[in-house]
Amino acid sequence: MDVIAPVADMRAWSRQQLTAGRRIAFVPTMGALHRGHISLIEKARTLADAVVVSIYVNPTQFDNPEDLAKYPKTLEADLAMCREAGAAAVWTPETAEMYPDGYCTFVEVVGPLSDKLCAVARPGHFRGVCTVVTKLLAVVRPDVAVFGQKDLQQALIVSRMAGDLNLGTEIVVAPTVRDPDGLAMSSRNRRLSPESRAKALGLPRGLELARQAYRAGQVTSMKLIEIVAEELLVHEGVDIDYCDVVSLKGFAEAEHADDACVLAAAVFVDGVRLIDHVPLAGHAIPVKVD
Ligand code: AMP
Repeated sequence: MDVIAPVADMRAWSRQQLTAGRRIAFVPTMGALHRGHISLIEKARTLADAVVVSIYVNPTQFDNPEDLAKYPKTLEADLAMCREAGAAAVWTPETAEMYPDGYCTFVEVVGPLSDKLCAVARPGHFRGVCTVVTKLLAVVRPDVAVFGQKDLQQALIVSRMAGDLNLGTEIVVAPTVRDPDGLAMSSRNRRLSPESRAKALGLPRGLELARQAYRAGQVTSMKLIEIVAEELLVHEGVDIDYCDVVSLKGFAEAEHADDACVLAAAVFVDGVRLIDHVPLAGHAIPVKVD
C-alpha cells in the first residue's frame, strides 16, 4: 500500500493507474477509522481495480474550533486498517498545501439540500465539505467515490454537486454500520465515556421507536419527533440540536410522514455531537426497545 502526502505525488499515482487502464475508487475520510469506514473500502473494492483512501481532517468544514482541536487522530492504526482492508493507496494531504496563504475559492450547493438539518446547525459546514471534496476529486480523479449513508445530507449534497459540476465521478452511498447495541459508528464515539455512551443509545432507540410508531399508523411528524425527544431528554447532559422529518422527495420538511421520509436527528451528549437518521419505511435499527 502506498502512503502519499504531496498533491503532485497523488496526482502522478492516479495518472499512472488511469494510463494502465485501471479504475480508481475513492473513499474520503477524516481518519480515526472504524468498521464503518472499512465497509466503504470494501464496497469500493467491488467497484474498481484500485482503492484510494484519503485521511484529512478538513479545517474548513468545522464551524467550532474546539471540535476541530478535539477531533481524534490515530494515523498509525488507520494505515494498518487500510492495508488490511486492501486499499492500494492512502493519501494524507497537508493543510499548508490544501489551503495555502491567499486561498479564497469555495464550492457551495444551494437550495433545499442546504437550508435545513446540519446545514442550519453548522453554518458553513457543507461549504467546507463541498470545497474539500471537489479538491480531493480534482487530484485523485476517481471513477467512483463511496460515501456513508450515516451522513445522509452530506451524501445527497456531494452527489448533487458531482452531477451539477460534471466532475465525472460516480457517487455511491453505502449503508450505516452500527455497533451491536445500535449506536451508529462514528469517530466521535471515542470521546464518549461509558456513561455518555449509555445516554447516546437513546438516539438509535428513539429513532427506532418512532419508526415503529410510524409503521403502526402514527404519521404526525411532531408526534414522531416527541418520541425521539422522550428517549433522549430523560438524561442530563443531552441536548437535541435538531430532530426533523424530511422527505427524500425534494428534501422538504414534512408535517405528515410518508414512506419517502426519513427522521433525522443531531444531539449533543456531554458535549459530543452525534447524528443519526432512520428511513421510516426502512429496516429496524437493532436496539432493545422494550
Ligand atoms: P468521516 O471520517 O466521519 O468524515 O467519514 C468518512 C466517510 O465514512 C463518510 O462518507 C461517512 O459517511 C462514512 N461513515 C462514517 N461513519 C459511518 C458508519 N457508521 N457507517 C458507514 N459509513 C460511515
